[in-house]
Amino acid sequence: MTTLALPTEMLPADGRFGSGPSRIRPGQSDALAAVGTTLMGTSHRQAPVRQLVARVREGIRELLELPDDYEIVLGNGGSTFFWDAATFGLIRERSQHVSTGEFGAKFATAARRAPFLADPSVITGDPGTLARPRAEEGVDAYAWAHNETSTGVVAPVERVDGGQVDAEALMLVDGTSAAGGVPVDLSQCDAYYFAPQKGLGSDGGLWLAALSPAALARVEELAQRWVPESLSLTAAVENSRKEQTLNTPAIATLVLMAEQVEWLLAGGGMSFAASRSARSASILYDWAERSEYATPFVTDPQARSTVVGTVDFAETVDAARVASVLRENGVVDIEPYRKLGRNQIRVGMYPSVDPEDVAALVACVDYVVENL
Ligand SMILES: *Cc1c(COP(=O)(O)O)cnc(C)c1O
Repeated sequence: MTTLALPTEMLPADGRFGSGPSRIRPGQSDALAAVGTTLMGTSHRQAPVRQLVARVREGIRELLELPDDYEIVLGNGGSTFFWDAATFGLIRERSQHVSTGEFGAKFATAARRAPFLADPSVITGDPGTLARPRAEEGVDAYAWAHNETSTGVVAPVERVDGGQVDAEALMLVDGTSAAGGVPVDLSQCDAYYFAPQKGLGSDGGLWLAALSPAALARVEELAQRWVPESLSLTAAVENSRKEQTLNTPAIATLVLMAEQVEWLLAGGGMSFAASRSARSASILYDWAERSEYATPFVTDPQARSTVVGTVDFAETVDAARVASVLRENGVVDIEPYRKLGRNQIRVGMYPSVDPEDVAALVACVDYVVENL
């Protein structure tokens, strides 16, 4: 029994609005089915799967407009594993982290716990606000998230400068939910890392990183430090150059990702991707600005993410209840980030999401609020 059945003609064509894992397009699923009896279930050390890895690496290079001397490196485990790999293989002695939400905080914790590193410097800010890294003596790696998925705040990707920055300091940017949806100038950072299940609308279990020559040199410099093989960036770089991963990858994840990257490129690349998300975002935020019970959580319009939108509700409207009624109607995953604990909805607006679906979603939210 549904609490409140919405008129079917109101519902979005696709009801998946998760911020991660995010919507996978039918074209990707079809492509996956098509290789289900050919590529799937074959050796990842043979040419067909290695060609698939090459498609992903080349597609990402083109989509993110990589500077020529940057390399795409990949490994198993997702962005969380990359934090650990970077703790071993990219931070020389002391890092600085921006922590205004869940994901920035997690990398800071990984660095703090490493017995071979000095205590990191942590720049904090309230959830929903933008904080920036700042020049600090003795810091050899600055880390922040391009898009803080837990709060819906987008940050500039620009090298930290000023007199106190060590010329060798690396800029490590978490692009997990921004990659493929928010434009970025990669010459402004040394490691831009992400997993495929958010901005790139694929499946999880993999990390990818665009590494600059300086980051590659740091990996080499720190190669003598003991590191579990599964977290070794040296091993990841060597394997990536051979179009493979250290150990067996999920081939399905690679298929979904190759399809998505090529779909974005066929549509016009980053400008196409970014404009789709920007259209969705303007629909969501304009609605929230006009609404009597909804308000964008991020007060600074410049910091409002175009890929993950967070909208607070007035006390009179129970956001969790609205999300649960919508879930019964097949419109799913607009719950806020669980640890944020706000009366809020969070909407994934990655390029795979049709802006028309966001328009339908806000109409559905209004309908539920009026009729509940
Ligand atoms: C989801 C997310 C992560 C963690 O990604 P996993 O692949 O689940 O490890 C890291 N950073 C950001 C910004 C994220 O949104």
